[in-house]
Amino acid sequence: MPELPEIETIRRGLEPILTGRRIDRVVVRERRLREPVIPVQLRRLVGSRFLSIRRRSKYLLLGTDTGSTLLIHLGMTGQLWVTEVDQPRRPHEHVVISLSDGRDLRFADSRRFGMLLVIQTGNIDQHPRLRNLGPEPLDGSLTGDRLFQSTRNRTRPVKNFLIDTRSVAGVGNIYACETLHRARIDPRLPVGRIGRIRWERLVQSLRTVLAEAIEAGGTTFRDYLKADGEVGLFAVALRVYNRAGKPCLRCAGTIRRITQAGRGTFFCPRCQR
Ligand SMILES: [Zn+2]
Repeated sequence: MPELPEIETIRRGLEPILTGRRIDRVVVRERRLREPVIPVQLRRLVGSRFLSIRRRSKYLLLGTDTGSTLLIHLGMTGQLWVTEVDQPRRPHEHVVISLSDGRDLRFADSRRFGMLLVIQTGNIDQHPRLRNLGPEPLDGSLTGDRLFQSTRNRTRPVKNFLIDTRSVAGVGNIYACETLHRARIDPRLPVGRIGRIRWERLVQSLRTVLAEAIEAGGTTFRDYLKADGEVGLFAVALRVYNRAGKPCLRCAGTIRRITQAGRGTFFCPRCQR
C-alpha cells in the first residue's frame, strides 16, 4: 500500500507536469471504486486548468482554476501516471484525463479501493474525508508538545496511536515501526506514559524517517508507478520492518514481531523501552 512518502513522491512528480495544463477530455471506464466515480462530475472539469498539486495525508488534491479540486486516493493498489496518448492501456485502467499538452493522466487500480472525487476547493478542509485528519508530520503543525498535551491519561499503545490518521496524518504501519525504533520507544507503551522529551524525539524521528524515504523516492512493497510512468522501485534501508528474528542494527538484540490492532509490529525489545 502506498504510504505518505510514496504519495509525496507522486505529488512531486506530477506537479511540474500538470500545473497549468488544461483538461480536454475525461473518460471513465469503471465507476466502481471505494466510492463510486461520478462521470458527470469528472466531465465538468473539462476546460479547466490544474493550478495546484497538493497532498493532505495520503490524499492528492489537484486544484483547478474553476473552483473544483480533484481528490484522489490510491487505496491499496492505485496507480497514477502521465503518459503519451498513444501508449497502450495498462490493465485496470479506469479513468483517463486527457491534457492540453497531448498527454494523458491515467488512473489504474486492480483492487479498486482507490477513490476519485470532485469537491469544491472552498472549505476543502471541512470535507468529510479531510476534516478529521490529524496534523501533517512534515509541515510543522505536528510538535512533540502537541502530542504530549493530547495524550495525557490515555492508555492506547503508541504504535496504534501513530497509525491512526486522526492523531497524525498519513503514517502507515511501516513508517510507524521504523519511527519507534529510531526513537527507542516500545510500541506497546501507553501514550499517557510518554513524556514531553520522548514525544519530541518521536516527532523528530518521524520526520527523519519520512524525509529519508521521500529522498529515496518512497519504499515500494507493491506495484505502483511514479508520476512519469516508471515502476517505482526504491528500497529505503528498513531497520525493523519485516526483519523478525534478525539482529537489531543498533544493539544486536533480536527483532521481534507482535500483532497490534490486527497489524504486524516489528521492534527490538532490548533497545526500545
Ligand atoms: Zn536494539
